[in-house]
Amino acid sequence: MYYIFRWTLQVVGLIVAMAGVHAAPLLEAPELTADGRVEVAAHAALVEDARSTLLVADVRQRFESGQVTTAPAAGVNLGYTQSAWWVGFRVPAHAAGIARKDRLMEIGFPTLDHVEFYRPGATAPVVVGDHYPFSERPIRHRNFVFELPADTPDGAWVLLRVRSEGTLSVPLTIWTPSGWAEYSRDTYAGLSIYFGALVALLLYNALLWVSMRDRMYFDYVLFVTGLGVGLAGFNGLGMEYVWSAWPWFANLAFPLGFALCSFGVAQFTRSFLSTRNVSITLDRVLLGCSVLSASVAAVSIGFSYMIGGKILTVATVSTTSLAVLAGLYCQKRRVASAPLFLLAWTLFMLFGIAFALRNYGLIPTNFLTMHGLQFGSLLGMLLLSFALAERFHAERRARETAQAEMMSARQASIEVLQRSEQELELRVAERTAELATANAKLAASESQQRDLAQHDGLTGLANRILLADRLGQAIRLGHREKRRFAMLYLDLDKFKPVNDLHGHGVGDALLKQVARRITDRVRHADTVARVGGDEFVILLHAVESHDGLLAVANSIRDALNEEFQVEGHHIQIGCSIGIAIYPDNGSDANTLSRLADEAMYQAKDAGRNRVVFA
Ligand code: GH3
Ligand code: MG
Repeated sequence: MYYIFRWTLQVVGLIVAMAGVHAAPLLEAPELTADGRVEVAAHAALVEDARSTLLVADVRQRFESGQVTTAPAAGVNLGYTQSAWWVGFRVPAHAAGIARKDRLMEIGFPTLDHVEFYRPGATAPVVVGDHYPFSERPIRHRNFVFELPADTPDGAWVLLRVRSEGTLSVPLTIWTPSGWAEYSRDTYAGLSIYFGALVALLLYNALLWVSMRDRMYFDYVLFVTGLGVGLAGFNGLGMEYVWSAWPWFANLAFPLGFALCSFGVAQFTRSFLSTRNVSITLDRVLLGCSVLSASVAAVSIGFSYMIGGKILTVATVSTTSLAVLAGLYCQKRRVASAPLFLLAWTLFMLFGIAFALRNYGLIPTNFLTMHGLQFGSLLGMLLLSFALAERFHAERRARETAQAEMMSARQASIEVLQRSEQELELRVAERTAELATANAKLAASESQQRDLAQHDGLTGLANRILLADRLGQAIRLGHREKRRFAMLYLDLDKFKPVNDLHGHGVGDALLKQVARRITDRVRHADTVARVGGDEFVILLHAVESHDGLLAVANSIRDALNEEFQVEGHHIQIGCSIGIAIYPDNGSDANTLSRLADEAMYQAKDAGRNRVVFA
């Protein structure tokens, strides 16, 4: 940035210088000012030595006879020039009290490559320049400083021959010792503060980059490093304190430093504003600026210092303008980090412009306008460093918010999951209960079916199927345990007339009562089955004796012989019973059934209502 404004000044200075090229009048010797300085440049004259052919004696003769060009009031600023130039001035008449021997002469432009200093009357020069080691300078100072010899008469011409690959500017000042001491002390103090702050910001952000590895910090470091190196090259501080032993670098520090600065600014703008996400065109253009800035280094080192310098001008002007434009563009797009970025560059620019305007006397000189560039660049660097911190915090806040949102989303989904799990459990429980009920129903209906299949629908007694099963069991048990059991065949006597007389319904009701009376006369373990219309079979277990058996059979017979009350009718029936005993009468189901049946028929034949053994 410093460079842009210096460059602007130099261009304007050159235009003014061109306007002032005419036959010079005899120059007046300038006066000493109160702060101990004489600004000589405005009272200097110039002679161009395009082919480096002029000898000092001839040049001195030309100055003395007035065949010279007057230097412009703003100073000797010749821009890029291939020629060597002779600059001459007359030693001013000194004020009373200042010893001649103490006078110092300063050229305040330390990037000049080659400077020959000829005292009045001298033919051999003192040679300095940034192509020569610092130690060869007559006075140790960032600028070129010479002692004016004590025997220099007032009004004598002092000659300088200057040449430089970079811009040729020759700001000349003659100092009294105290004035020079004060001026040096002040400028060194100011530069120390400036570079101290710059180095602090540089190191701080370099450490942040080391710890965070965020591209932005690295780009910031590049930009500030470039600015520092470029400025230290420009004001001679680098030559004095850093690369004093390497004159080859002294010459390159300025273009390389500002090339790096320009590269850093373009890259920093890209990374800080994330231009790739905002506008791909803007990002590409900034990338182009980076490449252009980088090319300055190659051109300056390998090809031409002057062309490198011109490309550098284009690169820095485009990069800084683009940085401001990018800031504006992103501000418009409401990019969060844009305002501070824009403020930093705006301050940078404003102070730079104030500095430039002051140089042309358009605004008053004061502390702020005088050191506008230092203030502007420091404020800019500080604000950008702050913007980096802000951006880091903004990103952290965004990360935290995102994290919180993610957590609550996760919590919500956990709750949803838990709810649906509960619902699922509930539904599984319901389903299980339904299944259990269905199973129970199925089991009940199965047992009902089994019941129905094995029992007589009217009386609830066992039917033929169940009887066959029980008879089989009884035979197996009797066989295994050597036990006896009896099979009774029972047919009601005169049942048909009941139907005929009272109806089938009464007959059915009577059959139910018959079943109950028989069941009441036997034990629980015994089986009573209905095997036909009015036919029943009874299996009696644990038959102890013939008499006991007969007693049970008779009790059944008697029970059925008693009068029945059915739907208001008094009914009198009876029964005939035939008995077969296992294993006495037979040991298989068929034999036993047949024998019991035959015995029952014998009872019928014998007159009914009796018991007959097989
Ligand atoms: P007997 O003294 O010789 O045994 O003659 P009975 O009148 O008892 O007649 P029999 O045993 O020959 O016939 C049985 C009758 O029982 C025939 C039928 O009318 C009647 N019957 C058969 N099944 C049912 C039934 O389920 N309900 C009713 N009410 N009557 C039936
Ligand atoms: Mg009968």
